[in-house]
Amino acid sequence: MTVLVDRFGRAHHDLRISLTDRCSLRCTYCMPAEGVPWLARPSMLTTDELVRVAAVAVGLGVREIRLTGGEPLLRPDVVDVVRRLATLEGPSGPPEVSMTTNGLRMPALAGDLRAAGLARVNVSVDTLDPERFARLTRRDKLPDVLAGLAAAADAGFDPIKLNAVVMRGVNDDEVIDLVRFAVRHGYQMRFIEQMPLDAGHTWDRGEMVDQAEILERLRAAFRLTPLDGRGAAPAELWLVDDGPATVGVIASVTAPFCGSCDRLRLTADGQLRSCLFARTETDVRAVLRSGADDASIEAALRDCLAGKKAGHGIGEPGFVQPDRPMSAIGG
Ligand code: SAM
Ligand code: SF4
Repeated sequence: MTVLVDRFGRAHHDLRISLTDRCSLRCTYCMPAEGVPWLARPSMLTTDELVRVAAVAVGLGVREIRLTGGEPLLRPDVVDVVRRLATLEGPSGPPEVSMTTNGLRMPALAGDLRAAGLARVNVSVDTLDPERFARLTRRDKLPDVLAGLAAAADAGFDPIKLNAVVMRGVNDDEVIDLVRFAVRHGYQMRFIEQMPLDAGHTWDRGEMVDQAEILERLRAAFRLTPLDGRGAAPAELWLVDDGPATVGVIASVTAPFCGSCDRLRLTADGQLRSCLFARTETDVRAVLRSGADDASIEAALRDCLAGKKAGHGIGEPGFVQPDRPMSAIGG
């Protein structure tokens, strides 16, 4: 079988698709408060177009598709997108389709998403304090996120992972409470080191709360035992008080997993990216709209991979933050 292998020998099995750059929140580490330069509607891939790219990728060995954004649940036909992706056929069967979401539309959609074949969800919750949440996301919507989480659990999603970006002076004193909350509800907590992807380009390495500091804070309350077998997964895991609950840290900055990265990204406007931090994109939308055949889409996927770098280079002297903020790349 042909597989998507880059020049460092990394086989690619994971496609992240951004369904929209729009969002119902304005998290400070991701989007500006106002004046977001939205993608023009005609530039965004139609569902037929994005499913076609995904079908070619799945035929080439992609086994996991993660839907993201912006907020993926804002795409009006998101249930249909899930259904169509979950029934694609690859060499090892249909792909596993998962989603990263802020959860706000989960109460309305969780049951339909599950019935459509969505396998797993990650919900972003950086704080359990309503006022902090309102400051951090610039929207007073913590109760709606918590309702979304409950709806996802009621619909039978399991495991449900919670994502929190840890920020100094904002929520770094809450990591223990977040783990307690997750353990109590049977969710899996994942802490994320903040990456330089904010619209304001204000990220500061010196201010970042890193993995070592997160673990030190957690050890004040829990016994943490490292779990092996991270594979291509970004999170390193620890058993909490001998389990079965686990806590994970995604240390993209201080312990990057680039060496085993197996991801490709498709933005909502049809650009293929080999990395969150790539400075170049491959325009598969132009390929699709030129009436090209599947071999040309495959060529675009391979072209994108050919430019993939060994690592993201954050912290190296020549590092330049991508022009697009996280919300427009697809987290
Ligand atoms: N709106 C959805 C959500 O918030 O889950 C999906 C898109 S969001 C861009 C995907 C993930 O990226 C979220 O868990 C968010 O916390 C994370 N994220 C956004 N900006 C980040 C940054 N600068 N550093 C690290 N993680 C970031
Ligand atoms: Fe929206 Fe997710 Fe970005 Fe927050 S992190 S602004 S919820 S896309």
